[in-house]
Amino acid sequence: MNLYIDYGGTNFRYSFDEGELFSIKSDSVELVDFLETEIEFQKDIRKIFISFAGQVKDGKILSAPNIKIKNLDLGQYFYDNYGVEVILKNDISCAAIYEHSRYKDAEIMALFYIGTGFGSAFVVDGKVLGGKDSIAGEIGHIPFKKKSFSCGCGRDDCLELSVSGKVFKDGTFNDASENVKKEFLEGLAFAFHTVLNLFDPDVFVLGGGVVKNNPSLLDFLKEEYKSSSFKTIRSELKISISDIDDANIEGLKILSKD
Ligand SMILES: [Zn+2]
Repeated sequence: MNLYIDYGGTNFRYSFDEGELFSIKSDSVELVDFLETEIEFQKDIRKIFISFAGQVKDGKILSAPNIKIKNLDLGQYFYDNYGVEVILKNDISCAAIYEHSRYKDAEIMALFYIGTGFGSAFVVDGKVLGGKDSIAGEIGHIPFKKKSFSCGCGRDDCLELSVSGKVFKDGTFNDASENVKKEFLEGLAFAFHTVLNLFDPDVFVLGGGVVKNNPSLLDFLKEEYKSSSFKTIRSELKISISDIDDANIEGLKILSKD
């Protein structure tokens, strides 16, 4: 059977084949121990698909705060020791695979996922853009406003420092101060117009906890579209909020069928 894992910044969710989706806190998980325990307990695991909230390249996790063994080649390790194949993918890429399955005719699809961070992905002619270091689409790290603290990427002026769940501390968009909301919307509009001009997508999908809890962000962007550049040329944009909460897992399942 296959084991599917969505390893997010907050929650670690997993399921076996089409079974129930279990959820535990990410900070309580040590990935290698978890996988070894499951492989020994569930004797017939053949493949493990992992959607990971961080940078992944050639089957290796490049940055991961909750994994003790850094730069471990998980694929090699589990194949050599257990004969189990491990397939790792960045989480937004997994979501993009699922979302694209709903809009197979999309020429250019753009995704914004706003949760703990601000991620994006672009699917061009059915292919998720990766880039030479697998960091294409890291929209949250475009320079925007300078802050007195640093971002995980090393800069101190990333969009994500203004546009993500982090800016609300433990609260929500609605309880945030007017200044925080204003800067959030300004940053979101900046990201949106940047993407419209760079990619001219025909389908735009929004997702992530912050969007799901504030569906008015969709209306905000629909209004922004009306005042976009070249508005007399632009045709209708199909823009919507993702229809499910576990697009990452569903993306992995699609990947497993390829
Ligand atoms: Zn950054």
